[in-house]
Amino acid sequence: MGIKLVIVGGVAGGATAAARARRVSEDAEIVVFERGEYISFANCGLPYYIGNVIKRRAHLLLATPEEFKKTYNIDVRIFSEVIGINPKEKTVEIKNTATGKKYREAYDKLILSPGAEPIKPPLEGIELENIFNLRNIPDSDRIKKIVDERNPQCAVVVGGGFIGLEMAENLTERGVKTTIVEMLDQVMPSLDYEMATLIHDHLEAKNVELELENGVKSFSKANDQILVTTQKGREIACDLVLLSVGIRPENSLAKQAILKIGPTGGIAVDDTMRTSDPDIYAVGDAVEVRDIVTGFPILTALAGPANKQARIAADNALGRKTIFTGTLGTSVVKVFDMVLASTGANEKFLKKHNIPYLVSYTHSGSHAGYYPGATNTSIKILFSPGTGKVLGAQIVGRKGVDKRIDVLATAIRAKMTVFDLEELELAYAPPYSSAKDPINICGFVAANILKGDMEIAHWSELEALQKNGAILIDLRTRFELKHVGKIEGALHIPINDLRSRLSELNKQEDYIPYCAVGYRGYLAHRILVQNGFKSKNLSGGIMTYTMANKKE
Ligand code: FAD
Repeated sequence: MGIKLVIVGGVAGGATAAARARRVSEDAEIVVFERGEYISFANCGLPYYIGNVIKRRAHLLLATPEEFKKTYNIDVRIFSEVIGINPKEKTVEIKNTATGKKYREAYDKLILSPGAEPIKPPLEGIELENIFNLRNIPDSDRIKKIVDERNPQCAVVVGGGFIGLEMAENLTERGVKTTIVEMLDQVMPSLDYEMATLIHDHLEAKNVELELENGVKSFSKANDQILVTTQKGREIACDLVLLSVGIRPENSLAKQAILKIGPTGGIAVDDTMRTSDPDIYAVGDAVEVRDIVTGFPILTALAGPANKQARIAADNALGRKTIFTGTLGTSVVKVFDMVLASTGANEKFLKKHNIPYLVSYTHSGSHAGYYPGATNTSIKILFSPGTGKVLGAQIVGRKGVDKRIDVLATAIRAKMTVFDLEELELAYAPPYSSAKDPINICGFVAANILKGDMEIAHWSELEALQKNGAILIDLRTRFELKHVGKIEGALHIPINDLRSRLSELNKQEDYIPYCAVGYRGYLAHRILVQNGFKSKNLSGGIMTYTMANKKE
């Protein structure tokens, strides 16, 4: 008999660690304890099951304890909560949640994958009926039952992170009028504000109401409904509430075993996923890991890192040496017809930690404009001022967002620069991309900034620059001006007239040419500077400016 490996938690991290351990060692004794009824279920599919996109509940259950026994020869015990760890004795104490019976089990190596618990703020009325969290199968059963059987008319989703957004979409698709109540001035905090506003417009267009910069104060009962009272005094009556205000790592077992907890509250692990106890490993939502871009310890509640860490912990527990190099927090979310994605650091994070960065915005077609159906892809890229090393990116669009964020995530991991992005050879045929893919375009523009071919002004600097006398030049057509709006105080010189009207300009002034997305602004900038004028192109054109200045 090989070593005895005990695993706490039987879903993303736990089940993966168990299966990996068996592939590494045929003679290890492997026991998995899961306090719930189900193992290896698709948490990420739960919103879509409630929305009837995933039609069969059975499709969420990726494996049963019996299948684990048959396929992997792994002893999976459900309804089994680990309530204590004794690191000296190398035992865990288990409580059978069905019978109440307690017993101990010895281990040689222990892997913790207990996940995270949803934050439940201590608000008046939070325990009322029909206020839900969504973490597991029983949660989704409860919510789906109400939607299926009680024909609810309206819902409030508290919190506009990815689960809140997915639920807002799925409830709306089921005919439930949904309001998102969010404390911040934006949904999806992994994006910077000006990128998130694109989703705000889309949510509103899809009949989801946004109540931003407003938290929930209390819940109360009003006839058969729940009355949600916000901190600003608004009252919203609804039939169900979904709480998705964040999660915190399940670290209670680790604390009780006196394992080191990191500054973020996650269980501290080294790059082999080992905790401060040499025989205990930890993975998934419960652990703190290294942010690849900044080196800071962070929490990432994502399935990809949990699965990878689980494989690594299993390897190391069984004597191999495998390293987890950190995470980028790469994520993608569908919001009705739009997709938003991010990887690496966002601007808020870089600013907060005084890390030097430059920003560039581009808005490119998802594929060749002459092939039907192309849509806009907005990319914000953050990169190092000196080297051009890519630090982070955010993309909002409708098509091809997922593949492009994956290219950028790979680029960051490979320590690529914006100059490398210029050169990437990406697959092209008219239905899928352009000969210059949006990723190449974002590389060209960022590289132009670094090479000094294009000085830029950002939307955030415009007011101050104008106060100092800078003059905006709108390069768009009369038609665009009339139909898309303009920035107050701008001169209007369409790009095709610029060369012939240079005599109207003054070489002592500072000019800020702009167009719809930045390309004509770049052309104008080159014309201006080569003729001795001072110029800064407005990055991302009026599109970024409008996104950033959107008031709710
Ligand atoms: P979990 O998968 O949550 O598993 C932890 C398990 O441990 C639980 O089943 C729990 O019951 C058990 N447990 C806890 N304590 C004990 C104990 N003391 N004894 C025994 N058992 C215990 N991520 C993405 O990357 N993309 C997505 O689209 C996505 N969508 C999501 C949608 C929803 C609704 C949810 C809830 C999560 C989503 N995630 C998504 C996040 C992803 O599911 C998690 O990051 C991942 O499941 C974390 O794995 P884990 O093993 O750490 O925790």
